[in-house]
Amino acid sequence: MSTAAAAQSWCFATVTPRSRSTVVASLASPSPSSSNSSSNLPAPFRPRLIRNTPVFAAPVAPAAMDAAVDRLKDGFSKFKTEVYDKKPELFEPLKAGQAPKYMVFSCADSRVCPSVTLGLEPGEAFTVRNIANMVPAYCKIKHAGVGSAIEYAVCALKVELIVVIGHSRCGGIKALLSLQDGAPDSFHFVEDWVRTGFPAKKKVQSEHGSLPFDDQCTILEKEAVNQSLENLKTYPFVKEGLANGTLKLVGGHYDFVSGKFDVWEA
Ligand SMILES: [Zn+2]
Repeated sequence: MSTAAAAQSWCFATVTPRSRSTVVASLASPSPSSSNSSSNLPAPFRPRLIRNTPVFAAPVAPAAMDAAVDRLKDGFSKFKTEVYDKKPELFEPLKAGQAPKYMVFSCADSRVCPSVTLGLEPGEAFTVRNIANMVPAYCKIKHAGVGSAIEYAVCALKVELIVVIGHSRCGGIKALLSLQDGAPDSFHFVEDWVRTGFPAKKKVQSEHGSLPFDDQCTILEKEAVNQSLENLKTYPFVKEGLANGTLKLVGGHYDFVSGKFDVWEA
């Protein structure tokens, strides 16, 4: 496998065909998935997140920009005529306000939009998407963005279920499992963010450290969800909702390779 192909196979930075020649991040070593056929690699194998750098994405051509914007306009036109105009019973009440039953945490990965995969209608789910669908523990200083969303969902919107959904081949989870203790960060934010799942990573490495990297990633995708569900309990309003029986926590995992969705109650 070429270095570029190896990087593309795991890197959490989405690399479009346009910018493949200036890959944002790559591996210091070949893909761990090829470790079985690469027994000559230094052991233990540990991919590192590095920049090839300097990072210069190719300039966006004006015609390509116009086409991209037109794609959005066309998408809305289709939504307007085929959905919005045909479902006034859905959209009219939403003009007055929202009363979603669910709060959903989902990865920012472009392949796993929960409204699409779970068929959630507008108004059904108050949604937060971030890298690796993580919920950090309560911290007013570091995590006001996530905390305010949870607080508003629970205290103002009175959601009934908070659902944290992981997914297959999650680049953020791969990055988390790849991080080496003490290694310098390559990005301003990314590594620090995925370290939110550090306890889950340590648990997986402790219990499944002998498995191939990709198998550990699959387990960590779900274990990180479990950790997020535990972290949710550090928010006082979540704790109160759970104690009162007005709130439930649910974990989920969407496997877009096999087309499966697992769900479990915390
Ligand atoms: Zn992901």
